[in-house]
Amino acid sequence: MTGLTDAAERREHILRAAVRQGLLDPERSLLAGFVDLDGVARTVGSLHAAFPDSPSILHAFAAKANSLVPVLAELERHGMGCEVATGGELAGALAAGFPPERIVFDSPVKHRTDLEWALDLGVAINVDNFQELARIDAILAGRDPVSQIGVRVNSQVGGGTIAAMSTATQTSKFGIPLSDPDSRRELQRAFQEHPWLTWVHTHAGSQGCPLDLMARGVAEAVAFADEVNRTLGRRQVTGIDIGGGLPVNFAGDEITPDFGTYVALLRDHAPDLFSGRYAIVTEFGRSVLAKNGFIAAYVEYTKTAGGRSIALTHAGVQVATRTVFAPDFWPLRIIAHDPSGRAKLGSPVRQDVAGPACFSGDLLARDRALPRLEPGDIILVPDTGAYYFSTPFHYNSLPEPAVYGVRVGGDGQVAFELLRPAQDPYEVAASGGRTVPVPRPGGLVRR
Ligand SMILES: *Cc1c(COP(=O)(O)O)cnc(C)c1O
Repeated sequence: MTGLTDAAERREHILRAAVRQGLLDPERSLLAGFVDLDGVARTVGSLHAAFPDSPSILHAFAAKANSLVPVLAELERHGMGCEVATGGELAGALAAGFPPERIVFDSPVKHRTDLEWALDLGVAINVDNFQELARIDAILAGRDPVSQIGVRVNSQVGGGTIAAMSTATQTSKFGIPLSDPDSRRELQRAFQEHPWLTWVHTHAGSQGCPLDLMARGVAEAVAFADEVNRTLGRRQVTGIDIGGGLPVNFAGDEITPDFGTYVALLRDHAPDLFSGRYAIVTEFGRSVLAKNGFIAAYVEYTKTAGGRSIALTHAGVQVATRTVFAPDFWPLRIIAHDPSGRAKLGSPVRQDVAGPACFSGDLLARDRALPRLEPGDIILVPDTGAYYFSTPFHYNSLPEPAVYGVRVGGDGQVAFELLRPAQDPYEVAASGGRTVPVPRPGGLVRR
C-alpha cells in the first residue's frame, strides 16, 4: 500500500500495523496515542510556506498543545521555536534542544524564580502586567537584558464561541488592556521608560475564535506598536508576536481554515505586519498537531440501558478531558474498527461511547450513530494530536497511555517509535506520593 494521501485510509493503515506489531493488544495494551510524524512535517512545511516573504519570522510551537519532549524535539528539527508558559514547559523545551533564543515565555503568573531563570537563559519574555514589569526591572537592576522583552496586550476585540478559550474580552485575565484609556497611557509610558521593551504580543484566543476577530486583534497590536514608535520618535518596537489560535476542523478531515487563509486575512486587516518594519513570532499549537494524532482504544464490554446501547471502552476523561467535561464545545469524531484494525462497515446504530472513569459523564460521544461496537473492537478518535493524550488527566488513578510516533515509508512500511511509555499501576501509585512496597500479584489468578 503506497501513496496513502487519504487521511482515513492512512489512519487505518497505521492502526492495522499497530495491532499487528502488538502496540495495541486486548490483553496488554488497551489504549494508546499516535502522532503521525510525517503529517507533522507536512503541516510545519505549510506553516513556513504561508509566511513566505517575511524577513524575520519565528514559528514558536505552543508547548501546551503537545508537551511530549520527543514531539518538541521533532518540531525543533523542523526549524520551529517553542512557546512555553510554565517552568515545566520551559524545562521540556530545553530538554528538546531548543536554543534559548528560539524560546518564548508567556504566562500571566510568572514567579520571580521563573523570571530569573528566563532572563539568565536569554529566552524571550512577554510581560503580562505592570507588576511583572516592575519585577523584571528589579531583577535587571539597571543591566540590559539579553532576552527580547515584549508586553502582552489585550486588544479587547471580543470573544469567540468558547468563552474559556477567548482571551481578548473586555475583562480577560491576560495582558494589558489597550482600550481602557488609563492603561493604554500607562503602557505608552512603560515603553518610554524601558528602552528594552521592544516587542508587542497578542493572542486573541484559541478554538472558537473567528479568524476575522483574531486578525483584528493583531491589527490592534500592530497599530499600538506603530503608535509607540511614532510617539517616541524612534523604532523601539521591532517585533510583533501574533500568538496562535488557528482553529481546527473537528468535523472532518479537511484542513480548514489553513494557514494561508489566515495570512490573507492578516494582510487585509494588518498590512503593516508585513511591511518589513517588524520581525514576527507566531505561536500556533492546535493547528500544528491536532490533525496529526489519534487515540485508539479497545471496547471492553457493551450493554443496553433504558433502550440505549452503550460501548464501554478504555478511552475516556484521562485522554479526552475537554470533550468529557464540555462535550458541546469539543465534539470528537469516533471511527469503529474491528479487532484487526479494519474500519467496520455495518449499518449505523445509535450508541454511547463511554470511558472507564467512575462518573456518568465519562463519555466520548452520546447517542452517536456508528456501526455496532462489540467487545474487542477498537475505536479510533482522530484529531487528538493536541491537548488530548499528551495532556492526561489522572482521575481514578488512570495511567498515562503509551504514545507512539509514526512514519510510513514509501513502501507502506509503518515504523513506530515510543514517545512516552505507558504507566503501569505501580508507577501510578508511586506518583501519588510516598509509598510502601506493594506486593505484585502472583499466584492469585490461575492462567
Ligand atoms: C494556548 C496559547 C497558544 C496556542 O493556541 P492554539 O490555539 O493551540 O494555537 C499560543 N499563545 C498563547 C499565549 C497561548 O496561551
